[in-house]
Amino acid sequence: MAKYIFITGGVVSSLGKGLTAASIGRLLISRGLSIRMQKLDPYLNVDPGTMSPFQHGEVFVTDDGAETDLDLGHYERFTGCETTRKSNFTAGRIYWEVLKKERRGDYLGGTVQMIPHITDEIKACVRALDEDDVDVILCEIGGTVGDIEGLTFLEAIRQIGLEDGRENVMYIHLTYVPYIKAAGEVKTKPSQQSVAKLREIGILPDALICRTEVELHEDVRRKLSLFCNVPQHAVIVEKDVTHTIYELPVVLSEQGLDDLIMVHLRLARPPARLDAWREMLDRLIQPDARVRIGVVGKYSELQDAYKSIFEAISHGGLAHAHAVDVVKIPAEELEDGTDPDRLLSVDGLLVPGGFGGRGVEGKIEAIRMAREQQIPFLGICLGMQCAVIEFARNVCGLADAQSTELDKNTPHPVICLMEEQEQVQNLGGSMRLGAEPAHIKPDTRAATAYGKRVVSERHRHRYELNPAYHKPLQDAGLIFSATNKDGTLVEAVEVEDHPWFVATQFHPEFKSQPLAPHPLFKAFIGAAIKHAKITSS
Ligand code: GLN
Repeated sequence: MAKYIFITGGVVSSLGKGLTAASIGRLLISRGLSIRMQKLDPYLNVDPGTMSPFQHGEVFVTDDGAETDLDLGHYERFTGCETTRKSNFTAGRIYWEVLKKERRGDYLGGTVQMIPHITDEIKACVRALDEDDVDVILCEIGGTVGDIEGLTFLEAIRQIGLEDGRENVMYIHLTYVPYIKAAGEVKTKPSQQSVAKLREIGILPDALICRTEVELHEDVRRKLSLFCNVPQHAVIVEKDVTHTIYELPVVLSEQGLDDLIMVHLRLARPPARLDAWREMLDRLIQPDARVRIGVVGKYSELQDAYKSIFEAISHGGLAHAHAVDVVKIPAEELEDGTDPDRLLSVDGLLVPGGFGGRGVEGKIEAIRMAREQQIPFLGICLGMQCAVIEFARNVCGLADAQSTELDKNTPHPVICLMEEQEQVQNLGGSMRLGAEPAHIKPDTRAATAYGKRVVSERHRHRYELNPAYHKPLQDAGLIFSATNKDGTLVEAVEVEDHPWFVATQFHPEFKSQPLAPHPLFKAFIGAAIKHAKITSS
């Protein structure tokens, strides 16, 4: 039977609960444990797939095609453990299941209630991760303790503690200890109150992780310990990290968090082996040089909307011991053709995925610059579709080529819905989601980068390169460097006579990890470093 660690958050949101959970996951892996990670989100959306990137940040996609919360990206990057459909449940999905059962008559006419029906469903979702080879399940509860919508989740995890015994279940509460400038001191009261809220529902935290911007002295820890009813050695300080989020596992381990977990959960394991992690950190913190990558996006002002992209770029730099300075270029600003110099000032250009027409002409303009000016380029999903449109218009001479997502009546629908998808669309679930094999064409940039003939990459899109245009595009020199097995769907394109120009229909960023940078990002940043050397000499 697996043991459980539940991570809750108090006082305010945006404390970095996902990163803390992911860091704990890394520590457990480093102690030789087999883990699974899960996020429970108390909001009513059925899944984050349709939520706005403005509110919710990136939608992370798993191999099995679930559209999930971006914290799952942190989990995979920190732990290397793959997440699945079972790794993210929202209240909406849970209620939906219960209501379906009610409609089917499963409750035999009984009154359906928050407790026990919703709480039982939540427990079933948590326990769904308990498989033979799993030692510990780490479950993060989204939102903040005190939210009305989180109550059933807290009740469910309290019950698991009772059912499984306290030595098999650990509660870790992440809290915020603010520094009040005018008073010149840190305040513990918000933490006391959020722990009191937890105790009200019957959860006694076993460890308190305190997010803070300043050092916390011993007397503050003593106070937190006494008033929050947590032993002093279980009051862990998580001050803002200086260089990178990847420092976090080390910060937590140095204060004995993983030892504490081993003792509480009665797990005998050798000390954490963090050598490879520390070595990666050293390279990240002390890079040999820097390189500049421009990201031309629709949500350029938003850090979270392109989370995995920014991480994968940094991993690509890490592979070459380089730091990457990301220059965010709002696509719309490129549409009137002014200031093309900002595109020339970077060493590589990346156009990420997206939906809808906003900024598309700016993206196409950036791609034209990258192609013509020999700037290394990586296009992803909508980024590949824009690269195909640009090539069709400016190399094939197909004026007004467009995606039917943006213009249904375009004379040259180089990107379109496939027939199968049009049929599926009528049923409501039209997206191509999750991992599929891509067959790599030998002697291409993609082949050199991957060093493999078949790879597995994750998709999240509706539109495809139109088969009717395969021939004219290829005749004009566009290389299809990856396709599905029978060649009907194009998964990656490249152009010749260019230092490095690759665009993929899939999302390589979802599979990049600091300990295993993605081959395409590694190759892209490698090309950018070369470009920087040439232009500076
Ligand atoms: N909007 C495009 C499509 O649906 C691209 C999607 C994406 O970039 N993720 O095909």
